Amino acid sequence: MHIKDIFDSKKQVLSFEIFPPKQESGTDSVKAAVDELVKQPVDYISVTYGAGGSTSKKTADIAEYIQKRHGMTSLAHLSCITAGKDSIKEMLDDMQARGIENILALRGDMPKDGGPVMTDYRYASELVTDIKKHGGFCVGGACYPECHPDSPDIEKDVDNLKIKVDAGCDFLVTQMFFDNDKFYEFRDLAAKKGISVPITAGIMPLTQASQIKRMCILSGGASMPSKFTRMFAKYENNPEALKQAGIAYAVDQITELLSNDVDGIHIYTMNRPETAQKIVSAINSLF
Ligand code: FAD
Repeated sequence: MHIKDIFDSKKQVLSFEIFPPKQESGTDSVKAAVDELVKQPVDYISVTYGAGGSTSKKTADIAEYIQKRHGMTSLAHLSCITAGKDSIKEMLDDMQARGIENILALRGDMPKDGGPVMTDYRYASELVTDIKKHGGFCVGGACYPECHPDSPDIEKDVDNLKIKVDAGCDFLVTQMFFDNDKFYEFRDLAAKKGISVPITAGIMPLTQASQIKRMCILSGGASMPSKFTRMFAKYENNPEALKQAGIAYAVDQITELLSNDVDGIHIYTMNRPETAQKIVSAINSLF
């Protein structure tokens, strides 16, 4: 099913994100996580794409597994910064043959090891154009409530986002954020600039001290409201309490977003079904 049709048929959409294994041997454990996640009332599950295309086959394998084994809609991430036009065409053909119908079109980050960057694609909008030309896919794009780190300011970033949406994005998924006000400001700005596709809010349940420190870097420095930093300071050295408090924080964030008519909630599950299950059981009747 095209995700656009899910947004058209439901007021608020729930999705999960998982990542493929780094090693081939990890595939079974990711599939086992999928087998648990699909028991939740989730509308679709997205599968990330390793930097530089390092997981391209595994991403497609798991997206195909979600659909064929469970009849659940999947969203395969695809990045273009290290890909040429020919390899993108091959991957699109392969995904189509596997029955994958939804792609999150991404630029990707510059390889950290200084590895090769192709020049066929500079921005995700160019990948969106090619996927739409290829035909058959519903296409999503990434967006950044607190501005993408390469952009000089949020105004410019949202102008660029409009180009990507006009290229054919059917919906958007946000970078994780912990301060809902940042999301509302971004949503208002996007609407002002004429972006009218659904915007799903990316929520990362932070349940481990090491994860919190790492995620702040990965998210490009998402703002941490004082109620979050106070919680972290209090429970930092108590793993069980921190886990419970992190879940409660995510539930609070989602409850407020749903009351404020967010189009969708996208939970970064980190392949942990039990955390997703706890959150969903607390918010399930709100959808
Ligand atoms: P773009 O939309 O191309 O934007 C990148 C930068 O270029 C922005 O600053 C933008 O303002 C600017 N820009 C865009 N168009 C123009 C233009 N025409 N002129 C000038 N500037 C322009 N990475 C992965 O490797 N694998 C994943 O699976 C993955 N999943 C993600 C999922 C989500 C929901 C999000 C939010 C991010 C994900 N990322 C993933 C990270 C993403 O690849 C990086 O954030 C990357 O730096 C930007 O990708 P993008 O698609 O947003 O790029």
